[in-house]
Amino acid sequence: MDLRSKALSELRSLVELGPRFHGTSGISAATDFLRGRLTALGLDVEGHQVRTDGWDPGATALVEVTDPIVRQLTCWPMLWSGASTGQIRATLRPHGVQGLWADSMKWHKFAAVVDGTVVAYLHARDGGPAAPQPLPIGSDESVPHLAIGRIDGLQISEWLADGHEVSVRLSAECAHGGQAVSENLTVTIPGRTDTGGVLVCGHYDTFWNTPGAYDNGSGTIALLLLAEQWMQQPPARPVTITFFTAEEWHLAGSRSMVAAASDEDLDRLDYVINLDGLGRGDFLEVFIGPEAFEETVVDRVRAFAGSTRERLEIISRFPPTYGTDHAAFYAAGVPSMHFTFNDLHRLHQPDDLPNDGIAANIAWTVPLVQELVETLERPSRTPARGISLPF
Ligand SMILES: [Zn+2]
Repeated sequence: MDLRSKALSELRSLVELGPRFHGTSGISAATDFLRGRLTALGLDVEGHQVRTDGWDPGATALVEVTDPIVRQLTCWPMLWSGASTGQIRATLRPHGVQGLWADSMKWHKFAAVVDGTVVAYLHARDGGPAAPQPLPIGSDESVPHLAIGRIDGLQISEWLADGHEVSVRLSAECAHGGQAVSENLTVTIPGRTDTGGVLVCGHYDTFWNTPGAYDNGSGTIALLLLAEQWMQQPPARPVTITFFTAEEWHLAGSRSMVAAASDEDLDRLDYVINLDGLGRGDFLEVFIGPEAFEETVVDRVRAFAGSTRERLEIISRFPPTYGTDHAAFYAAGVPSMHFTFNDLHRLHQPDDLPNDGIAANIAWTVPLVQELVETLERPSRTPARGISLPF
C-alpha cells in the first residue's frame, strides 16, 4: 500500500474510535490503538499519566437571540466554562477582545448582563464557524462561556452599534470536578549514530465535539508512519516520538514532559519537530525558533517542496506560537519547529473527518520530517530569554 492510502486507512481506524477528549474513555481507546500499533512495530512504549482537574462539557448548550429577532445560534462551551442555573435571559454588551493562541486569534467578546451583573460571556470567533477553545488563565470559570461563529458575532456587533438592545436566552450544563487522566505515549528509536537526538511529537487528544481527523489525527498518523519508516531505515540520530494528550488543555501533556525532564534530558535534544493539524490544501504554516534556525529550516522545506509537489505556499511565523506542544520545549530553550496545514473551517468541528486532502498532506510530511532529521544539524543554542508560557 502506498503511504497516502495507508495514511487514510489508519486515520479512519483512529477516528472510528470517537472523540479523544482528555480524561474520557474515547482517549483511552486511542491510547490502546496507538500502543498496539507501536508494539507491533517492535517498539517499547512508555506511558506517562497526565492528570488535570476534571471538567465536563455537559450534554447541551444554548444561545438564542430573542431580540431584535428570534434566532438560535450554533454554540459550544469553551473549555472550563461554568454552568448556568437553568436558562438565563440577559442582554448583551460589547466586552472587548480576547487573544487566543498568543494573539494569533482575536475574538470579540460580549458580556451577558442581568441587572448590571455579568452572568455569562459569548466569544465570537475571528473566522469560521463556532468552535470551542480553552479559556485563558484568569477567566471567570463560575459563569458560562459560550463560543459562537464569526458571522453571528458580526451580526450582534452590528445590532449593538446600531443602538439595538440585544436580548438572549442561554444555558450551559458544564461541570468542574474530579480529575481527568490520560497518557502521553513515548517510543525511542535508535539512530545510526548515538549523538544528539530529536523529539518528533504531536497531540492525539481532541475536543469532545469532534472526531479530530485534521486536529490532530493527521499528526498522530504521521508519527505512526514515521515510526514504521524509521524501524525499517534507522534515522541519522536517535529519535524520540511522543504522542501527547491534553494539548487542548493548555498543553498539559507536553508541559508535564518538560517538567519531568532534567536539564541534561533537554540539552540532549538537538531540536523538536511538532506536527499539529495536517489539513487539506497547499498552504503550509511553519513556526520555528530561534530566528537563525528558522532561516535554515524554511530553506530546507522550500527545497523539499520544490522537488516533491506542484504547489505549496509557505508562510513562516516568528516567534513560534505558544498554542501547541513545541511551545513547552521552546520555552525551556530547545530549538523547535511546528508544521500545520491550517484547516480552520474543520477546527474543533463534528465534521472534522478523514479525507484525501489530509491523507495527501500526511504522506507529504512524513518524508519531509525524515529528511529534516537526516540533514538538519543541531543549531547553536540561544536560550529563549523572556519567553514564558502564560499558563
Ligand atoms: Zn491541535
